[in-house]
Amino acid sequence: MVMKNLTVKKNTKMLQTIKILKILQPVLLVCLFLVNISHAQKPDLKTIVIDPGHGGVDVGAGGRYSREAILALNISLKVREVMQKEMPDVRILMTRETDILPGNLSNKNEALRWRANFANENNADLFISIHLNSTPANQRWEKKQVGTKKQTYYVKQGKKKVAKTRTVPVYERYRAPATVLGTQTYILASDYYKGKVASAGRSSSIKDYVDADSAGGMPEVDPVEARIKAQQYAKYFFQKSLTLATYVEEEFANIGRYSWGVWQRDWAGAQGIYVLTATQMPSILIETGFIDHPDEEEFLNSSEGLEKMAKSIVNAVKRYREVLQDPEKMIQQTAATTEE
Ligand SMILES: [Zn+2]
Repeated sequence: MVMKNLTVKKNTKMLQTIKILKILQPVLLVCLFLVNISHAQKPDLKTIVIDPGHGGVDVGAGGRYSREAILALNISLKVREVMQKEMPDVRILMTRETDILPGNLSNKNEALRWRANFANENNADLFISIHLNSTPANQRWEKKQVGTKKQTYYVKQGKKKVAKTRTVPVYERYRAPATVLGTQTYILASDYYKGKVASAGRSSSIKDYVDADSAGGMPEVDPVEARIKAQQYAKYFFQKSLTLATYVEEEFANIGRYSWGVWQRDWAGAQGIYVLTATQMPSILIETGFIDHPDEEEFLNSSEGLEKMAKSIVNAVKRYREVLQDPEKMIQQTAATTEE
């Protein structure tokens, strides 16, 4: 009895629903149409994740008096400040806002995964990781002669030891002047197999230096998973990442920074750029300068430097948002030189 009643009720309800849907059909169609139009016109840039590299126990690269973890945070906070002013409709999320590892974790690799998960779970449209570079070439010590001194030595003459003196040079160790400076922006290579380093005709000499930032080991990237992700990346995110990265480096050059340009890293190795392989959105990693070059360390520690860098990055993001509406104007991959 009860069952029957319920069925009757259900059927009546269903009929009512169908009736309502029929009446609403034109309205629904218009709604769908509008959703499509608004989706097509609205730039696909609602949520941006800013990721200050390192943090807490992971101090990153070191300069004469500052550490990468702190400087990357300062630059990132400035980027957020400028972005909030200039792009108020964008939701900006930070992977960390203080000198801790993201997620308050104590393990560097777990924190790297946390960064990527955070961006994925928040459906971010863009991921920007901010770092500083360093290189052994900027940390060389040399010695120079500062004088001479008398030294006593002994020679055997028969069974006797005879003391003699000689003049020897006195050296002093000094830090060799730093020679490597400039900015780089990393993206993942569009091809899983190629593109260990592909840059616009830049010297290969910098190749070794960038690895300085990736010391300490990264989470393993499963090759099969990486290959599948690389295909998806090539299809949806590569051109966008390349375009934004190019704009960032152009903006840096505009404020007088030396720009090493855009660098593409391989998937399988993916050293130092794990976050780029694990985020499911266009993503870039900016090396904002060499912390072990005194000029760049000073610039990035100054309020003027922070302001300039933040404005450059935000300008690049604004240009990127514009081009999202006109994808044909995006930067195509050029026949970049590939070095092994
Ligand atoms: Zn770093």
